[in-house]
Amino acid sequence: MGIHYTPIPADRLNAMRTAGEDEHGNKWQLKQAEGWEPLRCCFQRAEPGEEIALICYTPWTEPSPWLEAGPVFVHHEECAGYHDTDRYPDLFLNNKAILNPFDHSGARAYDHITFLDREDDHVAAVEHILNQPEVAYLHARSREAGCFHFLVTP
Ligand SMILES: [Zn+2]
Repeated sequence: MGIHYTPIPADRLNAMRTAGEDEHGNKWQLKQAEGWEPLRCCFQRAEPGEEIALICYTPWTEPSPWLEAGPVFVHHEECAGYHDTDRYPDLFLNNKAILNPFDHSGARAYDHITFLDREDDHVAAVEHILNQPEVAYLHARSREAGCFHFLVTP
C-alpha cells in the first residue's frame, strides 16, 4: 500500500503569506520560535529564534459539517517543505496521537478513530485503518491538544 503523509500544501501557505493573513483572517505575523514548535509545512521542529508563524488551519477546502480548524505553527517564509511523503514523519512518531478517519462521503468513520500512546506502532495503526474498505483517508492530530498534524491518504 502506498501511503502518503502530506504536510500543509505549499501553494496554500504561499497564498496566505501573499494575502498577509491565514484563511480565517488572522494576520500572518512573524514570531520568534522558542525551539519546540512542530512545523506543519516541513515536519521539522523549530530552532530557537527561527522565524515562524502561528496560524489557524483546516485541511478542508470546501464547507463540511466535519470541518475542524485550529492552531498550527509553520515557517514564516516559504521553506523546503516535506518530500519524504511515503514515510510517517519522524517528528510525530513518538507523539500521543489521534488518528481520525473519514469515509468515502467525507463523513467521520467513528468506528475507526484510534488513540495512540507514545510507544504504540503509529505506522501499523495507520496501515490498519486505511485497510478498512470504508475508510478513504485520515487526519493525524495531537491527542493532547487536538492540533492537526497531517493528512494521510492511501
Ligand atoms: Zn517549514
